[in-house]
Amino acid sequence: MIDIIFNLIDKFSDERYGEDVTQLEHVLQCGELARQDGASDSLIAAALLHDIGQFLDGAGEAAEAHGIDARHEVSGAAFLSSHFALEVTEPVRLHVAAKRYLCAIEPGYAESLSRASELSLHLQGGPMSPQEIVEFESEPAFADSVRLRRYDDHGKRADWVVPPLESYRPLLESLMTRR
Ligand code: FE
Repeated sequence: MIDIIFNLIDKFSDERYGEDVTQLEHVLQCGELARQDGASDSLIAAALLHDIGQFLDGAGEAAEAHGIDARHEVSGAAFLSSHFALEVTEPVRLHVAAKRYLCAIEPGYAESLSRASELSLHLQGGPMSPQEIVEFESEPAFADSVRLRRYDDHGKRADWVVPPLESYRPLLESLMTRR
């Protein structure tokens, strides 16, 4: 299963989706940010795998260029749910919601988004409504989803070299066997 996941990520490793880094660089930087932040193993795995839904349908954010939200967070979490616990899959499922949340509650956050993230925001529903904010804050994975979102936003550095995909194999294996 880990080989399947790594192959998926490798297959789309050169895609950029409008960012300064490739998709592979992006997810590796997100994983490394989680490691440096002292995140739990589950959250590190979520950071590494949060965009897996974009690799599954292949269309990913290319669809967004045509005004379609492919909901990669939902397909990604569903794919991962047969092998990982909710501590991994829920932050993945909610990382787009976390962006809409931060846009609503944090001054300056929306302005800090990358161009591609800003464009997709509108397709994803824009900033949360007050009612959505209340519901989101009651999610068990609320805090981890917001932390993952920060990694997602910052894992886009053009000149940052981080440990390779293979360095995550033991961590992913331990999470999968624990289930
Ligand atoms: Fe991402």
